[in-house]
Amino acid sequence: MPASTNDANSSGAITSTTDSSATIASTDRTKLTDKQFIEFSRQIFVEDFGELGQENLLNAKVLIIGAGGLGAQVAHQLVAAGVGAGVYGNLDAKTRINAGHIKLVDGDLVETSNIPRQLLFSMTDVGENKAKTAANRLNRQYQNANVRAVSCDLAADKLEHIFSDGCELDGYDLVIDCTDNLKARHLINELCVTHKLTLLSGAVAGNDGQVFCLDFDCKASQTTNGIQKAREHDFGCYQCLVPKGSTTSQSCSAIGVLGPTVSHIASTQAMFAISHLAGTFNHYGQLFRFQANPVRWLQMTLTRDSKCSVCCSKG
Ligand SMILES: [Zn+2]
Repeated sequence: MPASTNDANSSGAITSTTDSSATIASTDRTKLTDKQFIEFSRQIFVEDFGELGQENLLNAKVLIIGAGGLGAQVAHQLVAAGVGAGVYGNLDAKTRINAGHIKLVDGDLVETSNIPRQLLFSMTDVGENKAKTAANRLNRQYQNANVRAVSCDLAADKLEHIFSDGCELDGYDLVIDCTDNLKARHLINELCVTHKLTLLSGAVAGNDGQVFCLDFDCKASQTTNGIQKAREHDFGCYQCLVPKGSTTSQSCSAIGVLGPTVSHIASTQAMFAISHLAGTFNHYGQLFRFQANPVRWLQMTLTRDSKCSVCCSKG
């Protein structure tokens, strides 16, 4: 099994052991092999997904911010589906992992109270960095996984410091917000608007959760006419939905949460992510709200706030 060489430290710096001699051209695109066709055949057989959808997954780059209840499960599902696994299939584990086609960011440590719903972790992981622990586990479990861990305090300014110049955002097809605080959510939203990235946001607490996807890039050249039309619609941004200064009491530490409710939202995020990366997603700008008791989904269309200080000045 490949050994993980990625590292995350408490200072918030990205620890890199990249060997420049093993650098791969970003324009390389892997075609589906016979072995991969068999491995991913049940996905390929899904209507509208096909071999092209799987190839898109194999060549995708995803940034997941937050490695807790949502982020670790989203990462697990994307790795299992082959996201980012194609490009480095014939190379050694160190090269693959340093490439980090799935980058997982979190500075939190595993706590005892996380174990009932954060399924990648066990009691022996308590006290360890979440991003590093999850990445190590996935890189060991899946032969062609290349999950790179970044330690960063999501509630502090370090997140902005790491990503503000855009270097760490280069080439990512999707940014998945799995954080649990408003400051981080607003910062991630602003980064996606500024750098014209696609944002997939998920949140959960108590019996409620929500998921939405906003495409600030709008380069829908490979999608159908229907998807193109939807992506060009003006849906605004997270700031339009939840203005800065808003307060919320809906944290898991305050009102609790059940593991299956978290998994429900994480699975929806993973499903949306796979559809977006495959090129088959058509729910941009739609907010999906889930209630666990009684069970129901609500869907509504997001709209831009004409006075929004984020997307109206940069979008
Ligand atoms: Zn906005």
